[in-house]
Amino acid sequence: MALGANSTHHIQYTLNYQTEFLGEITFTRAQRFDDIELSNLESIMSSLVLPLRNALLYSTALHNAMKDPLTGAGNRISMQSTLERDIAIAQRHNQALSVLMVDIDYFKRINDTYGHSTGDTVLVNVAHTLQKQLRNSDSLFRYGGEEFLVVLPNTCSLDAAVVAERLRASLEALQISNEQGVISVTASIGCAALKAQESLNSVLQRSDAALYAAKNKGRNQVSYAS
Ligand code: GH3
Ligand code: MG
Ligand code: MG
Repeated sequence: MALGANSTHHIQYTLNYQTEFLGEITFTRAQRFDDIELSNLESIMSSLVLPLRNALLYSTALHNAMKDPLTGAGNRISMQSTLERDIAIAQRHNQALSVLMVDIDYFKRINDTYGHSTGDTVLVNVAHTLQKQLRNSDSLFRYGGEEFLVVLPNTCSLDAAVVAERLRASLEALQISNEQGVISVTASIGCAALKAQESLNSVLQRSDAALYAAKNKGRNQVSYAS
């Protein structure tokens, strides 16, 4: 972060709390800093260290409270608030928004064959694979055990279909190696585009119904909500 213009004279402080590095701060101006100013800056810097560390801890705690600890995807709490906000923006500006409900096919078999811990590794890999395919403005959440929700702001049903197919194909191509061999997965995806005035629960229900249809049609495919 930089405030103001860069200039000729610089004074730089490294902020540490015990052995923990918190950051660096540089002051710059056209005129030299005199001894009294330097001494004042130093005492201000030393009283900044503890509040800064508390602020950093608080911000990390807030960040972690929104994440699913296993996969790093957003959790249900952040899904609710992100979706409420994104739906409100879409409706206010008459923009499209789509959601994709992604559910790993026959995941129980992976747990049964390789054990729960390998199942966890598969979930982590699936989340990373999905995340890699998404844009910064898209959001990924862990909806339940082996189920993920993708929110695509500003995305109509046609574009969402392209994303959904890309996600499906990237999961089909994923190969996870472990001591027992290479594990592959597929997933089924339900896709729903937000309708005018539609509620959060309604669009989620429609994507879930589409997912159910994809499962019934044989899995490893995308279905679209009506
Ligand atoms: P389908 O194709 O119909 O989706 O079949 P499925 O086996 O994927 O679905 P089912 O709902 O029968 O099983 C989901 C399994 O996911 C059962 C549950 O034990 C497992 N699971 C849920 N959460 C976790 C987790 O955090 N870690 C692991 N390893 N397994 C989990
Ligand atoms: Mg499943
Ligand atoms: Mg499921």
